[in-house]
Amino acid sequence: MHTIVTVVFFIYGLVFGSFFNVVGLRVPNGTLLAQTRSYCDTCQRTLTWRELLPVWSFLRQRGRCRQCKDKISLLYPIMELATGLLAALTFYRYGWNEQTFLGLLLLALIIPITVSDLAYRKIPNKLLLFFTPLFVALRILYPHPSLGESVLGAGLAFVLVFVIILVSNGGMGAGDLKYLTLLGFIFGPALFLLLFFLATLYGAITGMIIMKLKNGNRKMTIPFGPYIGLAALTVFYFGETMIQWYLALLS
Ligand SMILES: [Zn+2]
Repeated sequence: MHTIVTVVFFIYGLVFGSFFNVVGLRVPNGTLLAQTRSYCDTCQRTLTWRELLPVWSFLRQRGRCRQCKDKISLLYPIMELATGLLAALTFYRYGWNEQTFLGLLLLALIIPITVSDLAYRKIPNKLLLFFTPLFVALRILYPHPSLGESVLGAGLAFVLVFVIILVSNGGMGAGDLKYLTLLGFIFGPALFLLLFFLATLYGAITGMIIMKLKNGNRKMTIPFGPYIGLAALTVFYFGETMIQWYLALLS
């Protein structure tokens, strides 16, 4: 039974991933509600339902629009697949409880923000404003960590990132500050510090790889939001275990 439900979560995850792509691409330019059906970005043709099947339609059309043959961004199937796999992992790991609900809400926050930051280098205020009350309500209903720890986490995140922005000029912006403050609230101070450490680590590793590939003459071209998202997911699934390992090493 657990396996069947996990597969159902995977399928729903694919469909929601497709929706999150649309949210991430349309919220920043205010077109989320302007046209309800999905369309090709190049020729503006409305897509048929067959072309909306997550991942599958991309593979069947070999990554190109059927009419204008323009390339469809790899971002779509990658985000759909990632949402499907992570939704399945969340249920598989936690089953029917509040932690699964928290995980799904986290995916609904992280995937559209990652898409938006990759596409426009923007973390939309609208998304943060939409999700903040939901996370606050969830924290009151499900105090893990406690509300006090959450507020402490948000405060720590805000001060830490604000100081870093002041001294580092560039790299991180106001969007990252608000996004990280919300994540500080969600995770509390200890897990937030781990999250922040991992985000900078992922950013540094990718930066070094890009430098190598481009012979070191280009500035880093990827925004910070995707690393924050990846770090938040790492902390959600493995954070407590990582902190336990670390404490065991110390003792
Ligand atoms: Zn087209």
